[in-house]
Amino acid sequence: MAEPLDELRDSLTGEVLVEGDPEYERARLCFNLLIDRRPAAIARCVDANDVGAALAFGQTRGLEIAVRGGGHNPAGHCAVDGGLVIDLLRMRDVHVDPENGIATCQGGATWLDFDTATQAHGLVTPGGVVGSTGVTGLTLGGGIGHLTAQYGLTCDKLIAADVVSPAGKIVHASDDQNTELLWGLRGGGGNFGVVTQAAFRLHPLERVVGGSLEYKGEGVAAALRLVRELAVSSPHELSIQAQLAMDESLAPRLVVVPCYTGAGNDPEALRTLRAVPGLVNDGVRRQGFLDQQRIFDPGYGVDRNYWKGHFVADLPDELINDLVRRMPALGRPPGGILIESLHGAPRDVEPSSSALGYRDAAFNVSVMASWTDPANDEESVDWARTTAAAIQPWSVSGGYANYMQADEPFERIRAAFGPDSFARLQALKSRYDPDNVLRRNQNIPPAG
Ligand SMILES: Cc1cc2nc3c(=O)[nH]c(=O)nc-3n(C[C@H](O)[C@H](O)[C@H](O)COP(=O)(O)OP(=O)(O)OC[C@H]3O[C@@H](n4cnc5c(N)ncnc54)[C@H](O)[C@@H]3O)c2cc1C
Repeated sequence: MAEPLDELRDSLTGEVLVEGDPEYERARLCFNLLIDRRPAAIARCVDANDVGAALAFGQTRGLEIAVRGGGHNPAGHCAVDGGLVIDLLRMRDVHVDPENGIATCQGGATWLDFDTATQAHGLVTPGGVVGSTGVTGLTLGGGIGHLTAQYGLTCDKLIAADVVSPAGKIVHASDDQNTELLWGLRGGGGNFGVVTQAAFRLHPLERVVGGSLEYKGEGVAAALRLVRELAVSSPHELSIQAQLAMDESLAPRLVVVPCYTGAGNDPEALRTLRAVPGLVNDGVRRQGFLDQQRIFDPGYGVDRNYWKGHFVADLPDELINDLVRRMPALGRPPGGILIESLHGAPRDVEPSSSALGYRDAAFNVSVMASWTDPANDEESVDWARTTAAAIQPWSVSGGYANYMQADEPFERIRAAFGPDSFARLQALKSRYDPDNVLRRNQNIPPAG
């Protein structure tokens, strides 16, 4: 491979990493340690020309191609054994146009890059909750976070993108040009090309009432029931997530993470949450949006992960009790179960504006097994699968593409969009990537 790689090196402004290079081990690492792959080469691109050259090289040499943004996808789609990784780590610039309320970022920017740049102007877009997650990768799957109720899904704010297709063409998608591609990028994943620039609508916001509330004992199920009621009754000013986990003594605990952006510091909804018996930790306060974005801050590449979940129409008591009961099943902390509310702004937009099929769901319930010892792989994966199967009866869609592992059956990926949108996505795939060069993703095969 030495000679062909020289050809790749010569065609890039960025660098090419191979086994033995000091940065190779870090560059091949995924967030999820369960994925351990050794690409033949990692092309650290710096612009759209580099991306085009890497795409051409990979196809000419018959190498499987993976695209790496923030490296967070739990399926490990950003790494490929013996293939070529198009790594966007050096493409992280964010340009903010405060007058027009628009931020444009390069395809490898993370939420920390993005939020830091937009908050310098007192502006936000609804993004992910962890700073090291890739902005584009998250947007391509939808995007749920601390401002979902207020402003909608991240992909709802995507107003334009530059995409390098596998054929090497740079395509601009916006409301005026290539509108079908823009539609597909709002949820259809990295199936159509490599996004080198993405533009987002911004909103003024600097401070929120947020943080976390932690419950134990009877408070765990009681607070989760209240989260359910609040999600139904809450106005657009309150986004809410909750995470079931286990403490050191192997008792279930619940962490509720509200984000309130209305008037006053002590809204009724937060007062009721604080009044639930079993509250053991109250970390809710008025704070800057960047502080809210630091609540969840997991280490990168330290845990093994296996996630499985469902969008649900409801969170009945029966399901809440069952999930709480399943937490101690392994006799060790199994990871967590994340419950994200979809109330508010996601339903304000025309459903046909994006490829997603889960806007009507009430919650996204995700079983997130995480562990460190490889000896626990089978047991942890099994816990995630059986716990997710218990949620299935309330499922209203095929699951959240952003949290899917690589073993999801085709039918579940199709169901995540619905049959009509999926057929439209397949037609789009046939147009931009007829040979399915970009198949390291929640794959939408070309039509036919
Ligand atoms: C710790 C953690 C926190 C998370 N938090 C949230 C959250 O708050 N909300 C939420 O909705 N999701 C969240 N996610 C899920 C996350 O949005 C998805 O896993 C997403 O795919 C990650 O994007 P990435 O660029 O970081 O990952 P990568 O693994 O680098 O990329 C994943 C895939 O996205 C595609 N891709 C990425 N960038 C591009 C690009 N520029 N052009 C074309 N294709 C591209 C490729 O197909 C790539 O294989 C989280 C995941 C983790 C691990």
